[in-house]
Amino acid sequence: MFKRILIANRGEIALRVLRCCRVMGIEAVVAYSTADAQSLPVQLADEAVCIGPAPSRDSYLNQAAIVEAAKQTGCEAVHPGYGFLSENADFAQLCADNGLEFIGPSADLIRKMGDKEAARELMKKNHVPIVPGSDSMVKDARQAKEIADKIGYPVLVKASAGGGGRGMRTAWSSEGIEEAFEEARAEALSAFGDGSLYLEKRILDPHHIEVQILGDKEGHIVHLGERDCSMQRRNQKILEEAPASILSDKLRKKITQAAVKAAKAAGYYSAGTVEFVLDKNGQFYFIEMNTRVQVEHPVTEEVTGIDIVREQVRIAAGLPLTFKQDDVKISGHAIECRINAESPWKNFAPCPGKVENLHLPDGIGVRTETALYEGCEISPFYDSLAAKLIVHAQGRLDAIRRLRAALEEFIIDGVDTNIEFQFLLTFHPDFVRGRYTTSFLEKNTKDILGWDLESRKSVKQEEQAQHG
Ligand code: ADP
Repeated sequence: MFKRILIANRGEIALRVLRCCRVMGIEAVVAYSTADAQSLPVQLADEAVCIGPAPSRDSYLNQAAIVEAAKQTGCEAVHPGYGFLSENADFAQLCADNGLEFIGPSADLIRKMGDKEAARELMKKNHVPIVPGSDSMVKDARQAKEIADKIGYPVLVKASAGGGGRGMRTAWSSEGIEEAFEEARAEALSAFGDGSLYLEKRILDPHHIEVQILGDKEGHIVHLGERDCSMQRRNQKILEEAPASILSDKLRKKITQAAVKAAKAAGYYSAGTVEFVLDKNGQFYFIEMNTRVQVEHPVTEEVTGIDIVREQVRIAAGLPLTFKQDDVKISGHAIECRINAESPWKNFAPCPGKVENLHLPDGIGVRTETALYEGCEISPFYDSLAAKLIVHAQGRLDAIRRLRAALEEFIIDGVDTNIEFQFLLTFHPDFVRGRYTTSFLEKNTKDILGWDLESRKSVKQEEQAQHG
């Protein structure tokens, strides 16, 4: 096992990896930007190295500085967390070239799955269902129109290098396709420096279902069940659950097997997620594979009892998985809420600032993942995720009640957050019934923002739930 690893990330995920290192008896070095000098991961690390100023491109995306920090502090491996360099094939290669183990898949695997259009090709060849769309990259707006007319509308124009819902536009009819193409291209170029685009039929009102995969370097691949991540705002997840209550056992088996097939087709190792959209008729389609640990991995940990980050580190060290598919048992139900420093009532504008007062919810089945502490600063330089609240209970209804209780208890003063918004939405009958799709928030956000907290609190929860 590694003696020392470098954590090339910040916030809650840096702390999550650091805690894992402690449990595994590994020393943790944290690479940080000047904006994070007072952060909890930096304070708790065995050693911390400043890799540059606040803007990400000068620090958390500064590949040379990170590799240098790892070498100087005697690290053997680098954990990239999620976001930043976690799916950057060049960085994985740079680590390898410098004798550092990248805690994730190889540069080749990242490349293979990171190019979404190429990943579609691979899935198609291996009989994993993909969304009907273009067979290869689309050259220009004229060609986009020709292909989209054949696919049928609505059509999604998607960036091959896409992530975080960026570089994606919908064309509802032939008239809108050229504009959608140009807008997606401009956004993809500015966000990823790569304007390659492809087309997919837009599935109406789907569920986002994803399957957690673990594979070792000996070729063993298992799945840890699925998550339903349909609660999205502008294609960004805000609440995730495991298991997905929409799936029958038969469909669950099909979709998890398709995910394993996808990972096998790629020759995958490390932790990864195969993402699908599921339509009203129970048809599911591959959309992409993420080659890293995801924000929402804790819900899977809660229902399986498996520490995904620990497995990821073990796999990187060349150790085989310690369990087989049959050993993985799903127990109870888990829900995660992303707590963002933002103002829902001001169009969800980010709200950085100083945390004046903090109380984290607690109790049986309640887990918070956060690097916040009283008096800390939430920086304007990075994304607004401030904390994750994860609850686990025997059944889904108990999990929802536990979630409400925990959200009521959660206090972050000094900055605006979406805690109250998350609390309110847990009362929506479609959420209670587990019958919400990726368009839920688009349709319901305005209503939810208009609800008043006190009357929601007094809603008879049982009544609503039993109507489901
Ligand atoms: P990103 O990598 O930017 O997150 P994804 O391909 O994972 O992009 O898609 C993000 C979200 O966009 C999905 O979770 C889903 O809600 C929506 N989406 C993507 N592709 C489709 C599709 N073909 N039809 C309908 N919705 C889609």
